[in-house]
Amino acid sequence: MPNTLIDLLKLRSSTTSVIEPLLNQWMMKGEDRPYLHPKVLEYTRRSTTRWSTKGRFAASTAGGCQRKGVLLFNGVEVPRNITPRSQRYFDNGYLLHLRWHSYLLWMSEDPDIPLESLGFEQEVNIPGWWVRGTLDHKIRVGQETFVVDFKSMNPWYFSNLSKTGALAGHVRQIVIYLKAEKIRKGIILYENKATQEVQEFIIDLDRELLNKSKTHIRRMQSHVRAGTVPDIPRECKAGEYEGKLCRLKNYCYPDPEED
Ligand code: SF4
Repeated sequence: MPNTLIDLLKLRSSTTSVIEPLLNQWMMKGEDRPYLHPKVLEYTRRSTTRWSTKGRFAASTAGGCQRKGVLLFNGVEVPRNITPRSQRYFDNGYLLHLRWHSYLLWMSEDPDIPLESLGFEQEVNIPGWWVRGTLDHKIRVGQETFVVDFKSMNPWYFSNLSKTGALAGHVRQIVIYLKAEKIRKGIILYENKATQEVQEFIIDLDRELLNKSKTHIRRMQSHVRAGTVPDIPRECKAGEYEGKLCRLKNYCYPDPEED
């Protein structure tokens, strides 16, 4: 029996390559093409670096810090640039998505590749949960439909994926998309930032995990209704939540130098 959430998540995700072998097959043809698919180019004209989660919970807030989820729901201003380096980090993640959307769209148009793109950057929502977000890509391979989520990852975390399995927050996020889209399977595709190696995890729509997310979201909804904000959780460690610098740090640990 799994003892911890991590054990549970490891059991619920399996590493089978669905996309990479087909991508390799397509790339080995070496056909000339623009870097970005025209549909992706069109999408870039609509997308900006501004975003807000006012009045909704992002799928990524279905776990983790509830204070953050409620603050974002309340529409607090999120500093986009903690540092220029972090801006480059976000920009790099955006560009990774454009590249992978293009790969899947080009593959979908190739009659030799049995993969069909069913759309990308699609808005999904679960009204009763106040959850609204954007899934990365939806594909069909054979008889199976998948929601695909792309993640770039630093080499250290990437080399540990075989031990850790897909990361907990990423699994929770994709399971929310599966529920919203009534699809049974998802793929989290990790790309190593340094080497462009790929590792895929197949994630099943998991009722137990979904119930945990539902409880988490219900608690955040109670705070929104009561006009309260959850306390700072012990795990926060002055804004270093889950190994990352939280962009809402200033709302919880105001700079004493500032007025
Ligand atoms: S700084 Fe900590 S408590 Fe505040 S929102 Fe971020 S993770 Fe949550």
